[in-house]
Parts: sequence; C-alpha cells; structure tokens
Amino acid sequence: MASYAAPLKLPPNTDQAKFSQFVNKAIGIVGDENLVIISGPEHLGKDNYLDPSKNHDMFHVMGEEYFISSATIAPRDVAEVQAIVKLCNEFDIPLWPFSVGRNVGYGGAGPRVPGSIGLDLGKNMNKILKVDVDGAYALVEPGVTYTNLHEYLVANNLRDKLWIDVPDLGGGSVLGNTTERGVGYTPYGNHFMMHCGMEVVLPDGSLIRTGMGALPNPDADTSKPPHEQEPNAAWQLFNYGFGPYNDGIFTQSSLGIVVKMGIWLMVNPGGYESYLITLPRDEDLHAAVEIIRPLRTAMVLQNVPTLRHILLDAAVMGDRKSYSSSDKPLTDAELDEIAEKLNLGRWNFYGAFYGPEPIRQAMKAVVKQAFGTIPGSKFYSHEELPDNVVLQTRHLTLQGIPTTTELKWVDWLPNGGHLFFSPIAKVTGDEAMAQYKLTRQRCEEAGLDFIGTFVVGMREMHHIVCLVFDRLDPESCRKAHWIITTLIDDAAKRGWGEYRTHLALMDQIAGTYSFNDNAQLKCNQKIKDALDPKGILAPGKNGIWPTSYKAEQFAI
Ligand code: ADP
Repeated sequence: MASYAAPLKLPPNTDQAKFSQFVNKAIGIVGDENLVIISGPEHLGKDNYLDPSKNHDMFHVMGEEYFISSATIAPRDVAEVQAIVKLCNEFDIPLWPFSVGRNVGYGGAGPRVPGSIGLDLGKNMNKILKVDVDGAYALVEPGVTYTNLHEYLVANNLRDKLWIDVPDLGGGSVLGNTTERGVGYTPYGNHFMMHCGMEVVLPDGSLIRTGMGALPNPDADTSKPPHEQEPNAAWQLFNYGFGPYNDGIFTQSSLGIVVKMGIWLMVNPGGYESYLITLPRDEDLHAAVEIIRPLRTAMVLQNVPTLRHILLDAAVMGDRKSYSSSDKPLTDAELDEIAEKLNLGRWNFYGAFYGPEPIRQAMKAVVKQAFGTIPGSKFYSHEELPDNVVLQTRHLTLQGIPTTTELKWVDWLPNGGHLFFSPIAKVTGDEAMAQYKLTRQRCEEAGLDFIGTFVVGMREMHHIVCLVFDRLDPESCRKAHWIITTLIDDAAKRGWGEYRTHLALMDQIAGTYSFNDNAQLKCNQKIKDALDPKGILAPGKNGIWPTSYKAEQFAI
C-alpha cells in the first residue's frame, strides 16, 4: 500500500495507519484525482468567495485549523457517494457533506468535528438534469449554483418564460442553500417551500426518493441502478406523495446526503419594477414594520422584501475608514451624516412589483400611499437612482439574476470576516424595535457597529445581523464570538430563536430550543441513532450528537 501524507488533523479515534488504509480504499472508489489530503499550509488561507476553501471555514472565528477536514473526497456519481458512505461506516470515520462550500457566515465547507472527511459533492456532480418549462421546475445535482441555473435559462432563451430565485450571493448551490433553509427575495424566496422532491443517500449507504419519487415510473429501465432510473413524472410536481413527509428531516440535518433535488421556478410575471423607500429616522423602523405586515400577508408585497439598516448599504458602498476615523461604534449623529451623504434613510426598504402594467400600478399606488404616511419617507424607482449600487443590485436580485456585489460589506473592516446572528422575529413594530435595540446594544458593548437587515417572509421576519470582524485579529474574533454567544442567550430569554447558525454555535442554539425538557432534541437524537447507528454522517450538525459520540469532547 502507498504511504499517504499525514493530515493536519486526523479524524477522531483514527491513527495514521488506519487513515492511510481508508485513503487507499477511498482512492479505489473515486480515483486519485478526487481525493485531497489536507496536509499543509498550501491547503489553508483560502478566503476568497470566488475561489472558496473546500476544507475550512473561510471566515474562521475559531482559528483556521479548528473546523478543518482531514481530506476531501469528490465522488463522481451517486454510486460513489454510496460506496464512500459504506466505507466510512466500515472505518468509523465521520463524513461531512457539502455542495459548493460557500455557506459563508455559517462555517463554509468546514466540518463540525475536526478531522472529518469533507464530501465535496459539487466538484463532479454538478449537472442540471432537467428544466421543464410547462411544469416550471428544475431538477439539479448538488454542484449546480444559482449562477449556473440562471445562465442555463439565458443560454437556452428561457428567461422570458422562467426565473429562478437567488440569495444575496449567486455562487452557492441551489441544493445546499435549500437544505440549509436559506432564503431569496422574489415571490419564490422561501427555498424549502419551493423545492419539490429529493433523492437521498442515507447514512447506511441506501438510496431513497421522497414524495412522488417513491412511486416507480412504469417505463423506467430497472436493469439500471436506482439513481439512474427514470423518475416518476410527478416527482417535481407534488411534494408530499403518501405517508409521512420526509423531506424536512433532510434539511439542516445529519440524516442523509441529498444527491438530487427538484426546485420550482417562477413563471416570468410579464412585467417587473423594483423600488427603494427611504425612511429618515431610526425609529421609523416601528411604523415601517407595522405597514409591512398587512401588505405582506395580503400579498400586496408580492416578494420577500428587505428593510436594511443604513450601515448595510453604506458598507456595500465603502469601507469603514471611508466614512469615519473613529474607532468607536458610530453614533446616531454619524449615522445620520452617512445617510445624508448617501441620499439614503436610516432604514431602507427594497421591494418590487411583478406583473403586467395595470397590476403593478395598482400595487404601487397602495404601497406608496401606505409608506407615504411616514413623514419624510421617499419612494424611488430603480431608474431614478442609477448610481445607487445597492438599488441597482436589488433590481437584479429581486428578479432572480445572481450577483456578488453584496460581498462588499464584509470589507467594512480590514481582513473582514463575518458571522450571522439570525433570530426570527414577529412582523410587528415592537418586536423589530426590541430586537434592533438589543442587538445594536450588544454590538456596541463589544465596540462593533450594528449592521443588519429584516427580511420579510410570509408571516415572520428573519432578522439578519451581520457581525463583521477582522479575522486576522484574535481580539476582534473574540469580540464577535462574545456578541453572538451573548445574544443567543439574551434572545432565548425573550422567546427569540435563530433559524440557522455557524458551526461554533450549533450546540448552544440547539440547547435553547428546549421545550418540555429538550423533547424535540431527544426525538431528533433517536432518529439519528436509528438511521445512523455508528454516527458517521455529520455528527454534531445542528447540535444533534449520535450516542456513539461524547459531545463534551467537542464542546466549544
Ligand atoms: P453552498 O452550496 O451555499 O456553498 P455548502 O455547500 O457550503 O453551501 O453547504 C452548506 C451546508 O449544507 C453544508 O455544510 C451541509 O451541512 C449542508 N449540505 C450541503 N449540501 C448538502 C447535501 N447535498 N446533502 C446534505 N447536506 C448538505
């Protein structure tokens, strides 16, 4: 057997000899070119979203070599995923699947358990398997990014028929973002709601199709392996099939590796206009949210709009130094000055109207009238502010055209990295003000500026607080970590929980969802042990530890 390099971090309970045996067998499955041992500095230091790390967190709040894999393995097809899963069971080595690794702010491609094998699904499994125009859906493999899917529509002259929905940044995968329950900003912004049908490799290496996919297509060639068989024609049309609905347990989960997923596409609405409404005073947040709620539930606000704090927009337009030489959190007077300079409000609301002209006009009249009750608020169409880079970017995002402009705000501080603190909020003025006050206060106690946005879903808001830190300055990392751990507890005391989080915070947040003596967590642990008795798949993901693990050993 060839000898292999020692990784910077071995998997738990694995010595170099066992690791080498594993690597030898894994190479036999995926080929030499699809296995990389993370053995030295040449594998570290990747911090560019456009060329992301496949083995560590780019925005490492815990040090670059903590959440790091021992090796990455890139299977070429579903059969190889199954074979690698079986091999991990045989060797008792943990496996951390990811699609593209651009999960920035939440840990990137880094695994929860140091030394896990990173399963790089996106490198080779990146085909758009189908775009069905009449059914308005796509079926994708893990490596298909929002940009890929959009470009496919453009290249095939389909944009006049179908649009995709995109998050702020277009480089992540459709499948990975959906399994993490990420959001975008068109009427199809709730990605999990808009997915339909999954093909999943379970932790024992077996393969299932969920929903209608469980019903075989009578014309399928059963001499082929199951993953190659023609699926049921309604797989991407009806989510639920028959019996318990499984898809939810494969989101934010360690119960399966999703290898195909259907996603509904939005039919081109036949007309589109984006807009910005600026709100001059900090306290206008209250009135704005009270206006938004009834309009959103009635779907007069047709898409997922955002209400952005001045500094989020300012940070897209320049770094901190370009606005202030102070090293203290910016004061209200300074924030007013920045708003004035940028011709923006203290809060800025970005939305869009969809549909033919008469429909848009009707919606616009209602929205303008409603926001017009806030003194000093101003409505701008995207044509009126051609130089406002945020409005011009939202104009693209809100019609499903991917961009990477929003990467800019991470440069607010030198060597910028970020964590997201993302509590769910009721769509009420009181709740928004209370969350804003608390989060801004904690940021300022630690000497950082508050940067954040309220993203309005169907019935709630995702309040996204962007904690920007200097990732090369240990003190700055420590402060960001302090803010977020403190806020998680502060929030739980008020009944606020986060919808998604970074690897370093998963246990803490799982602990806050503690109703009835942690009954839900216990239920999830039972399912975990039943489906994954050896605990090889993403142990610790979202705070769920297999019984075979001593969770304390991995406490942060
Ligand atoms: P993105 O595609 O946005 O770059 P990642 O590939 O980094 O996102 O995935 C984010 C997280 O989502 C991963 O760390 C993993 O926990 C989960 N995930 C991604 N892809 C899959 C998949 N195919 N099956 C199961 N979980 C996945």
